Amino acid sequence: MISFEEARRRVLERVTPVRESERVAVEQARGRVTASVVLAPLDVPAHANSAMDGYGVRLADLFADSDAKLKVVATITAGMWRETPLAAGEAVRIMTGAPVPPGCEAVVMQEETTREGEHVFVPSRVKAGQNIRAAGEDIRRGSEALPAGRRLSAADLGVLASLGLTEVVVWRRPRVALLSTGDELTPPGQPLSPGSIYDSNRAALRGLVEALGAEVLDLGLVRDSHRDIAAALRRGAAEADVLLTSGGVSEGELDLVKTVIAELGVIEFWKVAMKPGKPQACGKLGDALYFGLPGNPVSSVAVFLLMVRPALIKLMGAAPEPDRSLHLPLRGTIRKRHERLDFQRGVVHFDRAGAWVESTGEQGSGIFTSLSRANAFIVLPEGPLTVQDGDLVEVWLIEHA
Ligand code: AMP
Ligand code: MG
Repeated sequence: MISFEEARRRVLERVTPVRESERVAVEQARGRVTASVVLAPLDVPAHANSAMDGYGVRLADLFADSDAKLKVVATITAGMWRETPLAAGEAVRIMTGAPVPPGCEAVVMQEETTREGEHVFVPSRVKAGQNIRAAGEDIRRGSEALPAGRRLSAADLGVLASLGLTEVVVWRRPRVALLSTGDELTPPGQPLSPGSIYDSNRAALRGLVEALGAEVLDLGLVRDSHRDIAAALRRGAAEADVLLTSGGVSEGELDLVKTVIAELGVIEFWKVAMKPGKPQACGKLGDALYFGLPGNPVSSVAVFLLMVRPALIKLMGAAPEPDRSLHLPLRGTIRKRHERLDFQRGVVHFDRAGAWVESTGEQGSGIFTSLSRANAFIVLPEGPLTVQDGDLVEVWLIEHA
């Protein structure tokens, strides 16, 4: 048995990021990973412009302790372009987003001024550059607008659009094959025969893989048969970058997946001192990275989030995500008896007094609803312990999607 940290380190060591890149439309690029730095082809904003509706002025026209009376010579709205410099004693009425004309050194909010016919009274104490957004203050031409290895968010797409870009170069999406194993499993939509249960893991794993931006190859459901498992695994290894199975990796007689992988490929480790997820397999089958997730639904999703997700992020060419960990007061009491590192399901509440966490309750590894209600893991160190109400506990926020 190896520790969780050691297992995760070894998994990440085995991952080589994908190497093929492609050019995609910005509209299609959310969740994709930039294959190179995006350099800004222009300044954003392209020209200095007003941050307020007000009056554009020259500082030399203003007084130290009384209002200045200036002549309003033009109105500039967003989208207009005025070349004529401001002359002595002149002001322009200017709207938010409108380019400031040459010579305009500050914009005074209209609420601070008094308009009288063609003139405006502007108070003292105006600072140079006040209410003016400088050209390039967001992004400088030639600078790095986005780094390589960035998983593009909606806001990132906005940044690309602000540069006028319509395409971006990203790494290809890795393909992840999913396989459920077990004689007891029935696909949803079919009647449940006595003794069977619905295959719930594949739906959850598909969602998790897709939410990350990888492509799913669904290998479906196979019985606990050596031949069927071997055939499905061979196909997955040939057609996918990563192979994810659920079930069949513990020590029961029918836990054939591990046996088949050991025959056809390499198992790096299969016991990790964590709960959930003690039996899990990690290895290689052909060129594909292999993860044998436990069959218990909570364990399979937990191992995905804790082990597989960081590996997929690396495979996708993205920068590693730090664990989103913090310490929060616990409401309620948790007693832990076993030796392993424990990832209990918890709910972090955010209220006006601050954040706190509570357990989702029953922690059995078959209780899928505990995970669907959870937004965090409560991480309890190795060894038995009791956490009392109000004690600080380590919490890792979950990226469920
Ligand atoms: P196994 O790891 O194959 O021994 O399975 C452990 C437990 O998880 C058993 O109770 C299985 O019935 C259950 N299980 C395995 N695969 C799935 C699945 N795809 N969906 C729901 N439960 C499963
Ligand atoms: Mg099984």
